[in-house]
Amino acid sequence: MTTVFKFGGASIKDADAIRRLMPLIEAHRERPLVVVISAMGKTTNALEALLADARDDGSSGGYRERLDELKAGHEAVAEALLGDEARELKQRVGELVKALDEQHRRHCESSYSVHYDQTVCYGELLSTTIVAAWLNHEGVATDWLDARELVITDDHHQDANIDWQATREAIRSQAASGDRVRLTQGFIGGTSDGISTTLGREGSDFSAAILAHCLDAAEVVIWKDVPGLFNADPRRFDNAVQLKRLSYAETIELAWHGAKVIHPKTLGPLKQKGIPLTVRSFETPEAPPSVIDADTRFDAEHPSCILRDDQVLLEVKPKDFSFMDEPRQHDILGRLVEAGAHANLIDGSAMQFTLCCDNKPERLKPLIESLDADYSLERQEELTLITVRHAGESLLERLREGREVLAERRNATTTQRLFRSEDCPETWHIPD
Ligand code: ASP
Ligand code: MG
Repeated sequence: MTTVFKFGGASIKDADAIRRLMPLIEAHRERPLVVVISAMGKTTNALEALLADARDDGSSGGYRERLDELKAGHEAVAEALLGDEARELKQRVGELVKALDEQHRRHCESSYSVHYDQTVCYGELLSTTIVAAWLNHEGVATDWLDARELVITDDHHQDANIDWQATREAIRSQAASGDRVRLTQGFIGGTSDGISTTLGREGSDFSAAILAHCLDAAEVVIWKDVPGLFNADPRRFDNAVQLKRLSYAETIELAWHGAKVIHPKTLGPLKQKGIPLTVRSFETPEAPPSVIDADTRFDAEHPSCILRDDQVLLEVKPKDFSFMDEPRQHDILGRLVEAGAHANLIDGSAMQFTLCCDNKPERLKPLIESLDADYSLERQEELTLITVRHAGESLLERLREGREVLAERRNATTTQRLFRSEDCPETWHIPD
């Protein structure tokens, strides 16, 4: 049975990092292996900046400079890995960057989303081309597969939906069995007409799950720069602990509430087939990982805390002192959907509907304008939302530390509270 490995941007950020893939892949050579790879390091961010320049003024110095930087960066990695034998690979990198430049020219007048997908996909095309060449160079027989022909989607650009039947057929005919490593791109797909699409930022985890689902894989391993999942972000909490066992459902909750661990769409396809997901460190592969499967016994073992900064609170009231009844709630949520915004907290009372959203001006501005026209609207910015799961009353109270709660929502397992960011500590601590 197949194992699917996923390596994120940090695990292939430079030649040294890529070299560290070898022992991990070699250790699994006995069994069929599919490897899914993101773009190197921060390449996707760089491609987004390049896109902004291209749409601003394609001929500007900024665009050319960024494009040259992208090419030089990838060529340097090719050279560091293959040395004297890098000529062909560097040529291939050059061809991909040329094709990227052509896509920019072709799509400057297209919608932003179409333009995005036709160009940002090159991050993964470049990284996989380099890693595949290097694995073959080192004697690990590897087939490079184009994910745009494996992961078949609709044309909902930047957040494409999977056509599962077409995807299953494509993956089973192209990526099944064989004793060669099959290596492909995360994050990207293609329509049945061959137009490139993407699955949403950080979508490579989801790609790995799609492949695993379609191949009835035995296991997915996500290799990260941390040893596994934590009950809080170790950079923000001084006493975060690793969660060694977690259920699919609990992991979806954590990811949904903003724990930047795994793309939330990843878990569904794995849960359906009962495929376990292991999160391991590529730096310390021997360290105990986090394992996610159907077993729910360990979910409440530790309270989890998730922070979201830069939140905006919207308090919406009817202008005429009428009730915030279902038709009005429906109307407000409809406007949220129309603006393409997402609420991290939703709460309602007789006269008020409360929403808390990420401060993304391109989404929020139209929403605010639309609500402001028909409702009485108050808003506050620079807020921090904390979501706590599996916490008792005393822990919640101590975590609050007397701060004013601007909005709150609770159910049996989860409490969300919104604070002013300036009232929050630099480093958080989960009370015992
Ligand atoms: N390269 C893409 C991103 O940075 C996808 C991923 O890393 O999962 O969002
Ligand atoms: Mg990533």
